[in-house]
Amino acid sequence: MGYAAQQALLPQSGRARWGMIALFAFVANLPDLDFLPGFLTGNPNQFHHHFLSHSLGGSVLVGILFGGYFALRAGKPFLQYSLIFASVCFSHVVLDFFSADTSQPYGVPMFWPFSKEHIISSFPLFLSIEKSGSGFEFIWGLLRQHNLYAALVEVLIFVPVLALLALLRKRVWLFRHTGPQLEIEQGNN
Ligand SMILES: [Zn+2]
Repeated sequence: MGYAAQQALLPQSGRARWGMIALFAFVANLPDLDFLPGFLTGNPNQFHHHFLSHSLGGSVLVGILFGGYFALRAGKPFLQYSLIFASVCFSHVVLDFFSADTSQPYGVPMFWPFSKEHIISSFPLFLSIEKSGSGFEFIWGLLRQHNLYAALVEVLIFVPVLALLALLRKRVWLFRHTGPQLEIEQGNN
């Protein structure tokens, strides 16, 4: 999703492209860093789907931080970049909303701070990710067969999205490169 967002919102060329793709992928996965404090207590799920990490309010906060960074360091428009990074972060929350969840609290507190209620789609698109244990056992457990199958489903859903974006970008690129030439040819006639 991070890659798709980068292609759609902030496409770049050259060496900067890979750095931006990595940054978008990082921000798109940022909410799941809420596993980390749970590692310290021996229960990685303890703070998972917390209202600060998986919510509209948390995403706006992330957007302001990254928008502020790009505005101060690179002179980019603060509002535009804040909106972009808030959207990328919130896309994670939306995808979790559409994911099956087998542990309480089910779903995500999507609209915090306006509501603390955890909500989940009645029609999940993605399979649940099975998680158990702590420490190394937790990380190793993520590679179980069910989770690999869940990852495969996610790939199958996103490949057409990425293909469509690539096709649209190609059309824009073709239009840009044929447009002025056509005008010159018409001018010569
Ligand atoms: Zn998540």
